[in-house]
Amino acid sequence: MNKLLIAGPCSAESREQVLQAARAVKEIGADIFRAGVWKPRTHPGCFEGIGEPALEWLAQVQETLGLEVTTEVASAHHVRLCLEKGIRTVWIGARTTTNPFMVQEIADALKGSGAKVLVKNPVNSDVDLWIGAAERLASNGINDIILVHRGFSKGLAGRYRNDPKWHLLLQVRERMPQLPLICDPSHIAGERELVPEIAQRAMDLGLDGLMIECHPDPSAALSDASQQLTPASLKELLDNLVTRVQDSSDAAYRDRLEMLRSQIDSLDADIIDNLARRMEISRQIGALKRENGISIVQPVRWGRVMQDALQRAAASGLEEELVNKIFALIHEASVRQQ
Ligand code: PEP
Ligand code: MN
Repeated sequence: MNKLLIAGPCSAESREQVLQAARAVKEIGADIFRAGVWKPRTHPGCFEGIGEPALEWLAQVQETLGLEVTTEVASAHHVRLCLEKGIRTVWIGARTTTNPFMVQEIADALKGSGAKVLVKNPVNSDVDLWIGAAERLASNGINDIILVHRGFSKGLAGRYRNDPKWHLLLQVRERMPQLPLICDPSHIAGERELVPEIAQRAMDLGLDGLMIECHPDPSAALSDASQQLTPASLKELLDNLVTRVQDSSDAAYRDRLEMLRSQIDSLDADIIDNLARRMEISRQIGALKRENGISIVQPVRWGRVMQDALQRAAASGLEEELVNKIFALIHEASVRQQ
């Protein structure tokens, strides 16, 4: 894969499991081996990771297989223990990214270490908190930062364990264009069958790599058993993955793209002109209502406008949510005009 690949089990469970998983993902072509040593669990009493003794196993992977390793750090203490063992690639988990005090503590402990830091998005869909965490690291001289999209907490609805909210990634890309942005489809999916489609979507959107949970015997895993892949299914996922390039100089492709884009540009211009015309008529209606002492907001009329718009939208195969949102904004603006 011409993208960054980080793979390994959710948790380091035993020396044998770690070495077996590391050998398998190295064979598949992983650039970095992942395994959690301290696990943030929702309920106490679950497996909370092996802790410090497991760092030794990761260090062994690094030394004997020559494979870079990474683990989650959630405190300055974790950082110090990792650095002592020569583990210089760490990740900040979603729960930690939500907490600027913890991120600052970790950034301070990493200062001057030359570490590489993967920053997962916070559990809530607050892009600023995510970017703020990267800024705290950067202002401590840590420049080797990779953003990891692992989805956002959601209510009961939704196909996935965590909602990907793909549209937020555009904002992140625009605001931090210099940082690689990769996807963790495992924590978005929650179920192993759903991991490939999310990985493919991440590639279609041009993300820079993947972090995927892979365990030699997923059903026996001590954490996140339902979302981990066997090495064979990870290999299959990668074999089927279609990666796209950012651009192409192929003349036929460029011509067709230009033609389609010019159509989009002219439609966008029409949308703006029509909006301006619509607002002008709104103002005339406002004046008419004023002269006749009629109230501005008339729910029955608006109900009819929305109904017509939604019917037309459905007939043209447009998403109802899109039309609802656009018309709500247009209505708000019209009322302001009057
Ligand atoms: C993990 O990678 O195993 C993990 C706990 O991730 P997150 O912080 O994204 O939940
Ligand atoms: Mn996990």
